[in-house]
Amino acid sequence: MEKFLVIHYNEISLKKGNRNFFEDKLILQIKRVLAGQAFDFLKKISGRLILKLNERSDVAAICGKLKKVFGIGYFCESFLSSPNLKILKEDILDLIKNKKFESFKIETQRSNKSYPLTSQQVNEKIGEYILENLKNRKIKVKLKNPDLTCFIEIVENYAFIYFEKIKGAGGLPQGTSGKVVSLISSGFDSPVASYLLMRRGAEIVFCHFESTPQTSIASIENVKKLVKKLTEYQLKSKLYLIPFLEIQKEIIKNCKLDLAVILYRRIMVRLACEIAKKEGARALLTGDNLGQVASQTLENIEVINQTAEFPIFRPLIGFDKEEIINLARKISTYEVSSAPYEDCCSLFIPRHPQTKARLEEVETEEKKLDIEKMIDMAIKRMKIEEFSL
Ligand code: ATP
Ligand code: MG
Repeated sequence: MEKFLVIHYNEISLKKGNRNFFEDKLILQIKRVLAGQAFDFLKKISGRLILKLNERSDVAAICGKLKKVFGIGYFCESFLSSPNLKILKEDILDLIKNKKFESFKIETQRSNKSYPLTSQQVNEKIGEYILENLKNRKIKVKLKNPDLTCFIEIVENYAFIYFEKIKGAGGLPQGTSGKVVSLISSGFDSPVASYLLMRRGAEIVFCHFESTPQTSIASIENVKKLVKKLTEYQLKSKLYLIPFLEIQKEIIKNCKLDLAVILYRRIMVRLACEIAKKEGARALLTGDNLGQVASQTLENIEVINQTAEFPIFRPLIGFDKEEIINLARKISTYEVSSAPYEDCCSLFIPRHPQTKARLEEVETEEKKLDIEKMIDMAIKRMKIEEFSL
């Protein structure tokens, strides 16, 4: 029997008018991810994709790669049989007769509604045939938690048989939601926040503010490692490294210390907006989490937002730390993020940072700075690194 992967969408089927757009993006992304892998073809049939494997296919490697493609709900390693019931029965018997199981069920999904039998009738006819032919093995049909589930998918002129649904990455295909600039540090939160928006189809452009030589080179290396990890999901990434030490020194020298972190953040946001314009991005993204640290109170978030020309997304705003850590483990950024690091914002911060900043007061402090010049300088001296899988 010929082998296929049958690939089911996550939510694409819900997007009626845009369905082709989503499907085409998904196909493009799968082709990019599987570049260099051996298979015969990938094509769209009603409501799903099928990928024909061949004898040179490295199935484990292909499945491993597919697990990271957003937009896939689940996929199945399948055998191609025939919608002809006699052939279908025999093929299934052939496939399961050497498997060890005591209970089983048949679960049919029929997308071809002109097929003469209902799904339930197929289940019954095939179930009976299996019982009849494996009489000597004392097996039985069990609908709840059977040892073996045999899935049948009848679609167009195909009938696929499989025994396992492999969970996909969910979300929407890469490139269906436009670009977002992520402010990434080497902590736990911002990489997880980036992953969550990537999963919703956004292309992420990374932007890190670095304070070398005051902070170690290792903290930049950690950010690069994180971007590299996240690039597994989008295949290509850009990281802007923006020198921030001079800006911090100016702020410390001229402004009220208890507002330092808020002043840093507002300049970070302005710089990130410049990157967004350059990149054609439509929003910024941070790992902020309500109440986690002094700069993340509602009052301070409000004052920070007021300098932004784009919406700022904060997908982790309502998460508990434990939930964030679990996600970091799942996407394998945990280890790098738990390495000890110095962050630019842990430098020169006062013991009692303001938790309830007022815009007026912050703007008075900003008047003491030549912000335009600071921004121009930082943009002139920033570096860009490209990553690809
Ligand atoms: P994280 O775990 O992402 O570092 P955090 O809990 O340490 O977050 P903060 O240090 O207050 O919180 O940072 C809040 C957000 O500001 C970060 O999630 C990130 O989006 C952004 N940010 C902080 N420092 C930097 C930096 N050096 N470069 C880029 N973005 C930063
Ligand atoms: Mg941090």
